[in-house]
Amino acid sequence: MVYGGDYNPDQWPEDVWHEDVRLMREAGVNLVSLGIFSWSRLEPAEGRYDFEWLDRVIELLHEGGVRVNLATATASPPPWLSHAHPEMLPVMADGVRLWPGARQHYCPSSPVYRDAAGRLVEAIATHFAAHPALAMWHVGNEYACHVPACYCDVSAEHFRAWLQERYESLEDLNRAWGTDFWSQRYSSWEEILPPRRTPTWPNPSQQLDFARFSSDALLECYEIERAILAEKTPDVPITTNFMAFFKPLDYWAWAAREDVVSIDSYPDPSDPASGMRAAMVGDLTRSLGRGRPWILMEQTTNRVNWRPVNVPKPPGLMRLWSYQAVARGADGVMFFQWRQSRAGAEKHHSAMVPHGPLSSSPTWHDVVKLGRELGGLDPVLGSRVSADVAILLDWESWWALELPSKPSNRVVQVEQLEAYYRPLFEANVTVDFAHPEADLSGYKLVVAPSLYLVSDAAAANLDRFVSQGGRLVMGFFSGIVDPFDHIRLGGYPAPFAQLLGLHVVDFLPLAVGSSAKVHFADGASAQGDVWTEQLRLEGAESLASYSGGVLDGQPAVTRHKHGEGTAYYVSTQLDGPALARLLGHLCSAEGIEPVKVPAGVEVVTRTAPGSSIQFLLNHRDVAVDVPVEDAGVNLVDGAAVHRGLLRLPPHGVAVVREGW
Ligand SMILES: [Zn+2]
Repeated sequence: MVYGGDYNPDQWPEDVWHEDVRLMREAGVNLVSLGIFSWSRLEPAEGRYDFEWLDRVIELLHEGGVRVNLATATASPPPWLSHAHPEMLPVMADGVRLWPGARQHYCPSSPVYRDAAGRLVEAIATHFAAHPALAMWHVGNEYACHVPACYCDVSAEHFRAWLQERYESLEDLNRAWGTDFWSQRYSSWEEILPPRRTPTWPNPSQQLDFARFSSDALLECYEIERAILAEKTPDVPITTNFMAFFKPLDYWAWAAREDVVSIDSYPDPSDPASGMRAAMVGDLTRSLGRGRPWILMEQTTNRVNWRPVNVPKPPGLMRLWSYQAVARGADGVMFFQWRQSRAGAEKHHSAMVPHGPLSSSPTWHDVVKLGRELGGLDPVLGSRVSADVAILLDWESWWALELPSKPSNRVVQVEQLEAYYRPLFEANVTVDFAHPEADLSGYKLVVAPSLYLVSDAAAANLDRFVSQGGRLVMGFFSGIVDPFDHIRLGGYPAPFAQLLGLHVVDFLPLAVGSSAKVHFADGASAQGDVWTEQLRLEGAESLASYSGGVLDGQPAVTRHKHGEGTAYYVSTQLDGPALARLLGHLCSAEGIEPVKVPAGVEVVTRTAPGSSIQFLLNHRDVAVDVPVEDAGVNLVDGAAVHRGLLRLPPHGVAVVREGW
C-alpha cells in the first residue's frame, strides 16, 4: 500500500533532509512525489541543469527505503523563461495577461513553454531513468487548476488549426457554429478567435469547441512529456494528479493516457455532505481508470489554506477519509505535503510533518498511526470494486449544459449527479461513473442526470442498453442538443422520445424559493425543485403526477417498457427521500440489495479471486454497532471479527477480510 506525500526538499537546508528520511521511516512512508515545483532549481538558467542536489536527495530516500514518484517539474516555469519570453504568459478572455510570481503561468499552446518543458523532461528522464528508487513519473501538476484556457494570439492560431482539423471546410464550421445567427458568418479562417470577452454571450457552439480545444491543448502538453518518459523508461508507470469533478478537463480522454489514475481530494470538513462527496470522487477516479486501482495523490492531514475559513479535520476524519479512498479502489494514500512549508503561499496548509514539536502533535501521531495501519493492508492490493449501477457523465454535455442563456441557470451538472448519487451512497449501493458511449452491458441500472448534449452514438447506446433488458433512469433536460449545441428537432427529447415513450411539451423551470408538489401513484407525496416539465405521454405510464399549479394532474415521473428493458423519466428534481424510494424500488427490481447498517455507516467491498474484503466506515462522531454477517479478521488491527455486531468508534473503521 503506497503511503507518503509531496516532498519539496529544495525548500529546506540539507540537514533537514536526513531528519526527513528518518521521520519517513518512522511514519511508514514508502513513496514521495518529488520536485513538483523544482524547475528553477533543476534548470537555474536556460540549458544549465543542476541535478546534483536531487541526486543526493534521491540517494538518501533510496537508502531509507523510500521510493520516488519523480515529478517532471513543469507546472511552474522559472522566472528566466517568462522574462526572456513574455509571450509565453497566458491571457484571459478579457485580454489581461497573467504575470509570473505564482504558478502555472504558461499558455498551453506556447511553443516556447512546450519546447522548454520538453527539454527539461528529456534531461530529467535521461539523468534519472536508471535509478532503482524511481517508481513512477508525476507529469505536471493539477493541469488547468488556475489557467484552464488561454485566449492569447498564439492560442487563437492554435485554436484555428484545431478547428481546421475538426471541420476541414469553413462552410462546415459556419454550419456547426450556427453563424447565421447574429451575423457571425466567417469568410476566412483568420477571422476566427477564441471566445474572448464580448458585449454579450459569445456563440455557444464556439464556446463548446473552445472548451474541447482547451482540454486538448493541455492534454498535448501532457502528451509531450509522457511520450519522452515512455520512451526513456517504458516500464515506469506515468500519472498526473486529477482534481475530482473538475470541469475544464475531459478526464475520460486524459485517463486513457495514464498508467495509473491519481487524484487530489480536499473535501471541506465543515460540510456534512463531504463524506458522500469524497466517496463520489473515489468512484469517479476508479471509473476513469476502468476499475484499476488508483492513488489518492493529495489530501490534507488537517487544514487547507485556500478557503475563506479553513476549519481543521476533527479527530479521526483524516484516517476515515483515507480508508474511504482505499475502500473505493485506491492502492495508495498520499498527502500534500510531507513537511509543512516555512515560507510561500502554502505555509498555512497542513502537512504530515507540522511546524511545531512532533511529540505534542496530534497530526504527526495520526500520520504515524495511519502509516503503520496501512502497512497491514497489503491483502487489499490489486483487488477490485464492482458496481451494478452506473451514473453517466460526459464532460462535453457538462460544458454545454452550463453555458449561459438557458431556460434556467439552476441546472448544475454536479448537483444533478449528486442528487442521484446520494441515495445510492446512503443505501451502500456502489456506483460507477460511465461515459454515455461506453459499454454499459455490465450494469443493471444506469442513471442519466440531465444529459443535455447527446451524440448519435450515445443515444443509440442508451437505446440498446434498455432494449437488451437494462433499466435506465433519465433526468430532466436530457437529449436536448447535438454535439454542436444545436437543438435536436422533432420534439424534446428527440433522441430519447421513443425510448421514454413521451415528448416534453415545454420546460417550466421553477423560480428560486418555489417548488412543485408531486404525488406518486402509491399515495406517497414528494417535492420537486429547480425544474418541471409538461409531458405528453406516448406509450409511457405515469408513476407520479404534479399536484396544484398549471401542471396539476399531469405526469411528473414516468415508466416505459422498451424492448426487454424499462426506461424511467424524472421531469423535476425530486427531493432526497422520494429519489431514494424510486431508486430503491429500481435496485430491488434488479436484485441490487442495499447493505442494511445504521445511518452514517458506509460499506464497500473490494474483491479479488477467492477473497472478499469489506470496509466498514463510521462517518458519525458517535460509536455505532454494525451487523457483520461473515466472520473474518480486521486487517486494521489483526483482531478476529465474529458474526454479529461489531462496534465502530466515532469516525472508526474496520476492514474485514472474510473467511479468515
Ligand atoms: Zn495562449
